[in-house]
Amino acid sequence: MEVIKNIEDMRRISAEKRAEGKIIGFVPTMGALHEGHLSLVRRALDRSDFVVVSIFVNPTQFGPHEDFNKYPRNHEDDMHKLESLGAHLIFAPGSNTIYPEDYSTYVIVEGITEGLCGRSRPVHFRGVATVVAKLFNIVMPHIAVFGQKDAQQLAVIRRMVRDLNMDIEIDAGPIIREPDGLAMSSRNNFLNPEEHRQATVLYRALCSAEELVKSGVTRSVDIIKKIHEEINVSSLARIEYIEIVHVENMNPVENISNRALLALAVRFGSTRLIDNVILKVSEGD
Ligand code: AMP
Repeated sequence: MEVIKNIEDMRRISAEKRAEGKIIGFVPTMGALHEGHLSLVRRALDRSDFVVVSIFVNPTQFGPHEDFNKYPRNHEDDMHKLESLGAHLIFAPGSNTIYPEDYSTYVIVEGITEGLCGRSRPVHFRGVATVVAKLFNIVMPHIAVFGQKDAQQLAVIRRMVRDLNMDIEIDAGPIIREPDGLAMSSRNNFLNPEEHRQATVLYRALCSAEELVKSGVTRSVDIIKKIHEEINVSSLARIEYIEIVHVENMNPVENISNRALLALAVRFGSTRLIDNVILKVSEGD
């Protein structure tokens, strides 16, 4: 498995693979890899001939008071994990490679980035869309795999690819969870044992929402109220938002008629966690 740090080498290798008729699969990450990331790499391996994983902690998607500096970085460990899975190449550029001193171009996906996480993280999706567009131009994949864990990010990438006519298929993998239900995240390591224990309420609340919908409740306010109450039982939980929105455009949904995304962001101590579930109203209801 090769580790490439500069853009020219990455582009040359991708061009060679394409010329050989190979399908290039791509998994963008910020490293500190866990089973959630690895599940996406396995998906990419199933669907393509040459799998590139990028590891880049992207400064432009962190706000000024966010955790860029303390974001976990485990390069050696990441390399071993990817090597044993059979990924073909790691693209790990430095910050100056991606953002040289006079860098001045950004991708802004309007509307869809303004609610949910965009409300408390106003520059986040501009940073995400920009770095993903740049990585797509450098890696030149046929397929790129993202996690449903970051549902709004996934919707933003799909919209960007559609709007900018990028010739890349976006594939999504399901949320991978700890045995106790907590969605895997590089930030889970910041939780102390009590915060971790209390944070498992999020998954239980999402499951209750699914049960409510199964029992015939479809009004968003009713579902959200119940989830609020359930999460607030945890003394350490500080709810940022709990919303039910359209799966593609992230607009609020008042009444679920087919399917909708229940997304939430909740802090435990200084750690902000996000999680979600797609609520489905079964036919005939
Ligand atoms: P990150 O390194 O946090 O930028 O995440 C890289 C990719 O892994 C994104 O597409 C995430 O949605 C995905 N991802 C992160 N956590 C999980 C998880 N628990 N299950 C599935 N995918 C995940």
